[in-house]
Amino acid sequence: MTTAVLVAVYSLSIASAILLISVALNTPRLTTARVSLALYLAATTVWSAIALVYVVRQPEDPSNNIAWTLPVVAVMVAAVRTLVTALSNAAWRPSPAYLVSISLHPLGMFAIAAVPGWHHLLVEVRPDGTAEYVGLFWVHAAVSYGLLVAALVGMTQVRKHIPPLARKNFPVMLASWSFPVLANVFTIGVDGAEGFDITPVAFTLTAIFLGRSMIQDGLADVIPVARVQVFESLTDGIFVLDTAGRLIDSNDRGLYFLRLAGLEGRVHGKRMVEISPDFAALIAADGERDVSLPSGDFVVQITRSPLGDRKGRTVGTLVHIRNVTVEALRTRELIRVRDELAEEARINELLRAELADQVVRDQGTGLHNRRFVFDTMPSLVERAQAEAVSLAVIMFDLDDFKMINDTYGHAAGDRALVAVARAMENVEGSAVVARFGGEEFIAVVTGMTRDESVLFADRIRAACAAVTVPAREGSIRITVSAGVAWSAPESIDATALIERADDALYEAKRAGRDRTRLASEATA
Ligand code: GH3
Ligand code: MG
Ligand code: MG
Repeated sequence: MTTAVLVAVYSLSIASAILLISVALNTPRLTTARVSLALYLAATTVWSAIALVYVVRQPEDPSNNIAWTLPVVAVMVAAVRTLVTALSNAAWRPSPAYLVSISLHPLGMFAIAAVPGWHHLLVEVRPDGTAEYVGLFWVHAAVSYGLLVAALVGMTQVRKHIPPLARKNFPVMLASWSFPVLANVFTIGVDGAEGFDITPVAFTLTAIFLGRSMIQDGLADVIPVARVQVFESLTDGIFVLDTAGRLIDSNDRGLYFLRLAGLEGRVHGKRMVEISPDFAALIAADGERDVSLPSGDFVVQITRSPLGDRKGRTVGTLVHIRNVTVEALRTRELIRVRDELAEEARINELLRAELADQVVRDQGTGLHNRRFVFDTMPSLVERAQAEAVSLAVIMFDLDDFKMINDTYGHAAGDRALVAVARAMENVEGSAVVARFGGEEFIAVVTGMTRDESVLFADRIRAACAAVTVPAREGSIRITVSAGVAWSAPESIDATALIERADDALYEAKRAGRDRTRLASEATA
C-alpha cells in the first residue's frame, strides 16, 4: 500500500468517525449508549490520527507510536463494553465504581505511554531495526480481546430486547465486528510491530454498521427506553411478587396505590401480607373490588398473571391494579337506571291491565259490566259453535226495586245490589255473570240444555232470594225475575238471544214476578 493511499484511508476514517460522533450526539436525549458510541468513535479517530502520523513520518522506531495507540485502544474497548451493557438495559447508568473499574486498563496503558523508558515493556526494537511486540503488549492484547469478546457475547444477548426494525440489520452489525478482528490479526500477526495499523479504519467501518443499528433502527434509545418508561408511566399500578408473596418490583403508579392505602416507606423485599394484610387480600384474586380508603371510595380492577422464567417455571405473579371507579360507577348507575325503567314498565303494565279491567267492570258491585258482555260475546259464540255446544242468555231484573229504594233508602238499595251480585257470582256453573245496568243482570251459559238453563236461572234466583240485607226498618229481602233464551249451536245469534231473553223477562214480570220464563224459539 502506498503512503498516499494510506493517508487517504486514515483521513477518510477520521472524517467518517467525526461525522458519526456528531450524528450520535445529535439527540434531544443523550443516552449512555449514544455517549459510549461517541467515545468509541473518538477513540478510533485518535487511533486513526496516530496511525496517520506514523505513515506520514515513518519513524525508525515504532515504539512511541505503539505505546500511544494502546491507551486509545483501551478506551475504545471500555466504550464498547459500556455500550453493550447500555443496549441490553436502557435504564442502566454507569456507577462511579463501574467507571473506576473500566478506567484501570486505559489509565495503565496511558501511564506506560507517558513514560518513554517503559516503552520497551511493549515493543522490542532490535539492532537491525525490526521491532517485535513483547510482554505487556500481549497482556494488553489479551485484556482487550477478552473484553471485546465478552462484549460481543453480550451483544448477541441484546437481540432479545431490540425493536423489530433493528432486529433485521442486527446480524449484519454483528458480522461487521469481524473487520477489526481480521485487520488486527493482520496488523499484529502478519505485518508485525513496525508495519502499518489498519485496525482503526476497520473499527470505524464497524461503527458505521453499529451506528446504523443504534441510531437509524432505534436500537439505542427507542424501545428499551420506551419499555422502562411505559412501565413507569402506565396508569395501571403494577406489582411483581415472587412465589413467597414478596413485593419484588412495582411501578410508580403501584407505589401511588400503596400510598393511597396509607402504606409508605420501604416495601420492596417485604411480603405483601406483612406490608398490609388488607392490601394483600385486596390483590389476592382477579376481579373488581370496592375499596374504602381515607381519601375516598374507589373501585379497582385486579388482574393477576403468573410470571414464568425461560424454562416455564412459575417464578412469581404480576399484579395489575387499575382504578376503574369512574367506569364502574357509571356502569352501576346504568344498571340502576335500567332496573328502575324495567320496574316502571312493570308497574305501567299492571296499571294498564288494571285500567283495562276497570273499563269492563262495574264499580258498584265489582261484577263485569255491560261492555264486557258485548266484548266477550263474539268469542263465546265462536267457541260454542266450534265446540258444537248450545248457548243461553239469561236476563235478571230485581222485583219492585223502586219500592225497596223508597222503603229502605237508596244507600240500602245499593248494599242490596252488592249482596245480590255476590250471591249471583257464587252460584256454581255460571259462565259469565255481569251487571247489565241499573238492577238488571245477565248470565251467559254454554253447554246446557234448555231445561238446565232454566234450572240454572232458578238457582241464581234462589241464591238472591236467600240474601238478607240489614236495614234500619228490618232486613231487606229480594226476589228476582228471569228470562231465558236458549240456542242450539248451529243457529246462535247473540243480539237476538239478548232480545229474546229480555222479552222472556218481561213475560216473567207480567206473570207476577219472582219466576223464570223460557223464550219460545218460534218467536226468534
Ligand atoms: P219491576 O222491575 O219489578 O217491574 O219494578 P221496579 O221497581 O224494579 O221497576 P224498574 O226496574 O223499572 O225500576 C228500577 C229501579 O231501580 C229504578 C231505580 O231507582 C232503581 N235503581 C237502578 N239502579 C240503582 C242503583 O244503582 N242503586 C239503587 N239504590 N237503585 C237503583
Ligand atoms: Mg229494571
Ligand atoms: Mg226491577
